[in-house]
Amino acid sequence: MQPAWKVYSPATGEEIGELAETSLSETGFIYERSNTAFKTWSQLAVSERLVYFKRLRHLMAEKMDEIAEIISKDTGKVKTEAIVADIMPTLDGIIHIEKHAVKSLARKKAATPLLLIGKKSYIEYMPRGVVLIISPWNYPLQLAMVPILSAAAAGNTVIAKPSEITPMVGKCMEQLFIEAGFPEDVIQFAHGGKEVGAALVEHNPDYIFFTGSVRTGKIIGEAVAKKLIPCTLELGGKDPMIVFKDANLERAVNGALWGAFTNSGQVCMSVERLYVERPIYDQFLVLLKEKARELRQGAAPSDDVGSMTFPAQVGIVASHIKDAVQNGAVLETGTDPDEWKTGRTLFLPPAILSNVNHSMAIMKEETFGPVLPIMPFDDEEEAIALANDSKYGLNASVWTQDDVKANRVAGRLVTGAVVINDVLVSVANHSLPFGGAKQSGIGRYHGENSMRMFCHEKAIVKDSG
Ligand code: ADP
Repeated sequence: MQPAWKVYSPATGEEIGELAETSLSETGFIYERSNTAFKTWSQLAVSERLVYFKRLRHLMAEKMDEIAEIISKDTGKVKTEAIVADIMPTLDGIIHIEKHAVKSLARKKAATPLLLIGKKSYIEYMPRGVVLIISPWNYPLQLAMVPILSAAAAGNTVIAKPSEITPMVGKCMEQLFIEAGFPEDVIQFAHGGKEVGAALVEHNPDYIFFTGSVRTGKIIGEAVAKKLIPCTLELGGKDPMIVFKDANLERAVNGALWGAFTNSGQVCMSVERLYVERPIYDQFLVLLKEKARELRQGAAPSDDVGSMTFPAQVGIVASHIKDAVQNGAVLETGTDPDEWKTGRTLFLPPAILSNVNHSMAIMKEETFGPVLPIMPFDDEEEAIALANDSKYGLNASVWTQDDVKANRVAGRLVTGAVVINDVLVSVANHSLPFGGAKQSGIGRYHGENSMRMFCHEKAIVKDSG
């Protein structure tokens, strides 16, 4: 282990703990132990593995407040949001695994064609081996825990590399697995930054599940291409929200605010582009501004918008706003980035930008901050064209009371998910696949695939002999 590094809260600036970085030489031993543990863990029946999951779920429910406190201090998000949007989805993910693992991972009978008459056909799901899970800082619990547990339920051993930006949550997760009594080395943690992540990739895991930026996703994609390691990449987004003139105005305004400003906009599926049909555009903007000004910012559980987590992200948000304003955008709420007083604390005022267009970075690049650019459109074709005019394709939302139109538009959006008359919520349904189109990623998790993706699908044909 390396010397410990000190960790500070982005909301208060206070020192909240310290953690020792995993040394690069240690990463090889982690793999050795993981390979050894695989020999026994993979041989357990799924139901035997699930005993540990139930214990973990109960432990997390008991310690909910303590975990929420750690997440809130480490990320700067308000504690309520840590509970509702990070701990609860994790618990829900565990329940989904407990409910579905046995059936999902069982040998499945397949049809046998006439050509093979007299024989039987099956599909078996075999664990892959050692799975590397690299996770980010915005929802540091659920984006690590759900893939870790899906992989482990399928019989793999796991090496987790949580984000170095929220290391206290990484340490907390490691402790939870120990306290829940998981067998030694089934789930191991490596702590540190990109050097540690890169070293872990170099050790040839049997599968990599990565959640993070497009930039890092491409680096990992390149590394695994050379080694032919299968992987899932869950990357960024620039999600559009389309509001037609017949939408429920008040709900749509609330949806836009929540979709854009929850977790200070540090959500891969935040609403980052808002398109409103021209006849209601002015009215929508007035209401949006009114309600945006009512949002309370701070670190108390009752506050609406917490702090940013990662100092480097503040610079990106500022540069997108400045570029937009220099090119004619109007800052309807929020303040000029030059007036932001950020030191160790990172509160950014929620910003709404009008008079934007698709040549601006604010409409092209992922901002990952509390900024909502709004633009009018004239008809359905234009709305679809604008929404699809992006290198990303993670999520989208469509707001209208016309069901036929909603389904028609949803069917033409090139994204991994579409939510009709709401935002973000598709990710909360563990029965639905989650993932992106275009540069938003490769592969899907959650849904039927959540555990099988961590398996070799093996075809078996059996003759009676
Ligand atoms: P973000 O900007 O959202 O933090 P990153 O993509 O930089 O996203 O980081 C996501 C995760 O990937 C973090 O755990 C980080 O340490 C890890 N990471 C960053 N660079 C690399 C790399 N080259 N190889 C492996 N892991 C990396």
